[in-house]
This record gives sequence, structure tokens and C-alpha cells, in this order.
Amino acid sequence: MSHIINVKSEVDIQRLPVNSEEHKFHDWIIRYTKSHILHSQCSTVDQCTKDIDHQCQFCIYTNTLQLPHLPEMVFPNNIMQLVHSSGVQIEFNALEALKLVSNGKLDIKVSCSDSWKESRDPSHLEEKVKPFDWTFSTDYKGSVTGPVTVTPTEERINIERLKQKEKILFYHELMLFEDELHDNGIASCTVKIRVMPSSFFVLLRYFLRVDGVMVRVNDTRFFHDFSTNYVLREFTNRESGVQQLGLPLPMFADPNLIAPHLPLRTGSYDKITWENNISMPNECASSTNSLDSKSSNITEDSDSKSSNITEDSDSKSNNTMEDSNKSKSDAS
Ligand SMILES: [Zn+2]
Repeated sequence: MSHIINVKSEVDIQRLPVNSEEHKFHDWIIRYTKSHILHSQCSTVDQCTKDIDHQCQFCIYTNTLQLPHLPEMVFPNNIMQLVHSSGVQIEFNALEALKLVSNGKLDIKVSCSDSWKESRDPSHLEEKVKPFDWTFSTDYKGSVTGPVTVTPTEERINIERLKQKEKILFYHELMLFEDELHDNGIASCTVKIRVMPSSFFVLLRYFLRVDGVMVRVNDTRFFHDFSTNYVLREFTNRESGVQQLGLPLPMFADPNLIAPHLPLRTGSYDKITWENNISMPNECASSTNSLDSKSSNITEDSDSKSSNITEDSDSKSNNTMEDSNKSKSDAS
């Protein structure tokens, strides 16, 4: 999406950072917040050690995840939320994504069990400790809460329908985390959304490239037709060794180019269903309103209540990574 309105004065246009937006489409509120990268150390040591309920983001991340180290860039305030009037909520954030990285810690149940204590020869130990995954691989499928039932389904997202040239009412992409693997490649986790008059589509993607070795793409796609009471969620794990693919090197730089060439390893297909809200009889009548809502309802920093990992105190010192983040999203 172009932010340039007046081409003549292109050089004069300053891209004012937008830290959050909120839009209503049919029965959904779609919002995001975004801000700076996670600090590399605790900002309020006194407070964080005394009051564990009000820790800084650095302490929340390090204490919750217990990883030997965090990705080089973590965006704790980059959060996307889709909230339905029924109370269903689909959220994407870095903390939940990183919780699924294997962290080298013993499973608590295992470490406490008597059987383990009795037989602690080194080979046994090795077997039980999941090694820290320095690629930060995650099969995060978004955080779905509220009055929903999630069931496996045979129904698939209609890719042909997504290719149709429907007007895009809203588009946004957020980086959740990224790490360059000490210059050995890249691991990144991003989420992007587009909203059309009849539906929305979300792609949450974990991308890994270990240079010269392997490529992995874990995709979770969400599709919702506004006339239905369910969201389709499709998770796929695709990966391959670089040699096996035999593709030109530049292709490996772009997840969008490389992903279709990777063989499917695993997949899971869910239907996220909620009760139809009977008190909302005219759900189609709101389509013109939703067009209007694109230009209105822009809120800033009003979302902090909706997430316990958003800290307003940080918002003034933000945007150190804004430009690089933006140029990435523009490139896609
Ligand atoms: Zn702290």
C-alpha cells in the first residue's frame, strides 16, 4: 500500500509513524499496535526485582521464556488482534510465538520424577533435555481465545478466491521477531493481514534459512468469510535441504519465492467456530460503514488495556527500528 498521496512533493512527505490503528469490519474489530525493539537489558532493576507483577518487558521475556538468549530483534509491542463481537479473539504476538521455541530446560515433571533422579547417567540426561533451538523455530498458530470450538476440518481455504481481484480495505504487516543467526542466515516471524469486503486473510509466517544448509517455512493461514460463523486455520510445515532444492541462490532470500518449492512435511487444518450472534440481524448492512471505518477510528496508544505485554511508558522512545520494519513491509 502506498503512503504517498501527493507525488509532486514526494520528498517532502514525512512518514509519520503510526503506532496503532483500529478498524471495524462487520462484526470484527481489527487492530494492531507497534513500537520499538525489545531493550537488551532490564530498564528498572529496582522495580523488577521487588514487584514481579510489574516487570519491564525485558524481564517478562527473559523470565517467561528462559532462553539462553533472545532473538536479536524482538518486537514486544507489535501485536495484531482480531476481535469478534461474540468475544472470540485471535491475537498474534512475539511472546507467545517464542514460548514454543525449545529452550534447553528440563521438563519440570521429568526433572522432579524419582525415576529420573535414580538414573542420572549422562546418556539418560541428554535424552531428556531438549536442546536450545538457536533457530528459534516455532509452530505458533496464533492465540485464539473466547467462546470457540476448534475442530479438524476437511474444508480448505479457497486459494482461487483469494486470487480474485477484490478491493483491499485494509492491509498491514508486523514483524514479531528476527535473528540473523550470527550471520549464518535468518530466522523471522511475521504476520500480515488483508481485509476485503467479503472476507479477511491472515498469514503468520516463521521463516528460517540456514545459509547453504536448509530452509524452513511454518505458515499459519486464517481465512474468514464475513457471512459465516467460522474461521479456517491452516498450519503447514515445509522444509528442505538447500542442495536438494537446486534453485538459484537469490531465491533463498525471499520467503515468498522459496516457499512454494519446499515439500510439505506436516499440516493441520482447523475450523474455529462460534455461536451465531442472533441479536445482530443485519450483518451485511454494515459493509458501507466498514469502508468508512478505514479512514476513521484511528486510535493511538489506546490499546494498552487489551494486552499485558504492552507498556505505554515505552512509546515515546520508540521507532528505532521503524524504518527497517517499514521498508520490509513495503517490499512485499
Ligand atoms: Zn526489568
